[in-house]
Amino acid sequence: IEEMMFRSEKMSVAGQLAAGIAHEIRNPLTSLKGFLQLIQAGISRKEEYYKIMVEEIEKIETITSELLFISKPVAENKETETIHEMLQDVITLLYSQARLQNVQINFEKGQNSSLLCDRSQIKQLFINLIKNALEEMPNGGKIDIRQRQADGVCIVDVVDEGPGIPDNVLEKLKEPFFTTKKEGTGLGLMICTQILEKHNGRLDILRNETIGSTFSVFLPVMN
Ligand code: ADP
Ligand code: MG
Repeated sequence: IEEMMFRSEKMSVAGQLAAGIAHEIRNPLTSLKGFLQLIQAGISRKEEYYKIMVEEIEKIETITSELLFISKPVAENKETETIHEMLQDVITLLYSQARLQNVQINFEKGQNSSLLCDRSQIKQLFINLIKNALEEMPNGGKIDIRQRQADGVCIVDVVDEGPGIPDNVLEKLKEPFFTTKKEGTGLGLMICTQILEKHNGRLDILRNETIGSTFSVFLPVMN
């Protein structure tokens, strides 16, 4: 029975994803078709339409490349990596964006953990989380990356000073295509969940007591 329940749950996620994809791609396609018809009819302001059309195509591009990431098989390139180096790489990568937004990223290091993991996927996981934090803080502030190791588990908290998560959406964040952003795809956290599944890890989402939110990643340490 448990297996059946598991399977039917999986199916509904697949169904949900399919419906989401269809919806998210149909919208820009409908708009592309409309603009093409206008241009075909010999309307002026073509330049303006071309610009919007490129944006719509870019939207489809982003969605499809994120979906391709999700559809990748089990992490195949697992090697021994250390968490400090991977996090430092990600922080360096996002440094200029943070600076532009006047956000300071602090990295608090605990015992360095060795992980058997796909380096690019673990980096992608933290890129998604820190990017989300940055996107919630357009007017500056600080992001704390707090890493520690306890009982064979590597824990990384990404703590931001954004507006936090409203009560009624906390449950929905990991669902595909749930987004509160104009330019969002709503796939970032779903990709994080997927990556963590492949690494026997877990993602907890908490609302901070005062301001902002905390995204906690748990990953098993190599022994
Ligand atoms: P996207 O970033 O494209 O919207 P995500 O899956 O990365 O998609 O995030 C889904 C939603 O979760 C966001 O639109 C936002 O509403 C919420 N969210 C994610 N990270 C944070 C955060 N640090 N603080 C507040 N809300 C967040
Ligand atoms: Mg995101």
